[in-house]
Amino acid sequence: MKIAKVQTHILHHDLAQPFQSSFSTFRARRHLLVEIETESGLIGWGECLGPADINAAVVTAMTPMLIGRSAHDIEPIWLDLYNQFRDQGQRGVIHTALSGIDIALWDLAGKYFDAPIHQLMGGAWRRVIPAYATGGFRPEGGDHAAACAAEMAQYVGEGFEAVKIKIGYGIESDLKTIAATRQAIGPNTELMIDANHGYDAVDAIEVGRRASQYDIHWFEEPVVPEALRAYQQVRQGQPIPLAGGETWHGRWAIDEALQQNTVQILQPDVCGVGGLSEARKIITLADIHQVRLVPHVWGTAVALAAGLQFHAILPPNPPSHEQRSPRLEFDRTYNPFRQDIVEAPIEHKNGQVAVPQGPGLGISINRDALLAYRAA
Ligand code: CA
Repeated sequence: MKIAKVQTHILHHDLAQPFQSSFSTFRARRHLLVEIETESGLIGWGECLGPADINAAVVTAMTPMLIGRSAHDIEPIWLDLYNQFRDQGQRGVIHTALSGIDIALWDLAGKYFDAPIHQLMGGAWRRVIPAYATGGFRPEGGDHAAACAAEMAQYVGEGFEAVKIKIGYGIESDLKTIAATRQAIGPNTELMIDANHGYDAVDAIEVGRRASQYDIHWFEEPVVPEALRAYQQVRQGQPIPLAGGETWHGRWAIDEALQQNTVQILQPDVCGVGGLSEARKIITLADIHQVRLVPHVWGTAVALAAGLQFHAILPPNPPSHEQRSPRLEFDRTYNPFRQDIVEAPIEHKNGQVAVPQGPGLGISINRDALLAYRAA
């Protein structure tokens, strides 16, 4: 099953209502899909986390090394590409580009062997994943506390048992938003806060200390991801468990972060860490370091499907009768690519999401929608 063709698809949609994280304003949704076709006409899909145009350029640069190779050689291809780009590619877009290629190869393998990826990777622990709703971005020019509280109450009404909101817009503003959100969702919903590394250690410690009265399940990305010692300070200086890892690419970066006791909850992204092949290796690292693994998911239906395949194979840790299932991050902000580009959209039912059981990723791409959203 030789690889015949590799294509990149940049999807673009301008947002009617821009929204902000601590450091960025989202005026559009823009994501990169990778399509790999074999000589026999089988097609696999992957997705890269991060800037679509740069990822597309890197995938295109890697393409000559893929053409003519067996699509079944997933690990050899991964390592050959990594070896070729290692000197400038130990972190960042080399890994995110590799991720899209790797996921597409796993999708192809699943279609060839007529099995879902989780089956090929050793089998699933679960078929349904409890999700948490991600949202609560600051509307551009809007009242964050009021908007966030109302938005989260809506998700709880839909059946979500856990929600995550964005902070990092200033200590007093954030505490107002957290208080309003806790009030709106009641005492029984898990509440997570994500600063998107909008604080330094001093401010993050103050936020964590003052926010802890609102029963916060985790505090995500309090400080910039490369500042591992700042993570240590925040972890020691306030009581909320720390989460992070969506931008720690590859097993070496994650091992370094875990060795330095940065987080209790590790959040690798399948579309950024190096694909499903690398994500599987992170399971072992998380086990050895005894951190909880709750993957990060952000992107189109392809990223969502790849995330679900990965969630399915996460072993219960520790094993017990009252098993804690890793929650799926289910972004609820407007993104037409989450539903429109697949024939059967992946949706939640009462806050639970079923793992696709079809071959490969378990999704069928709607090519008309893909073309409609393709960036000019
Ligand atoms: Ca995050």
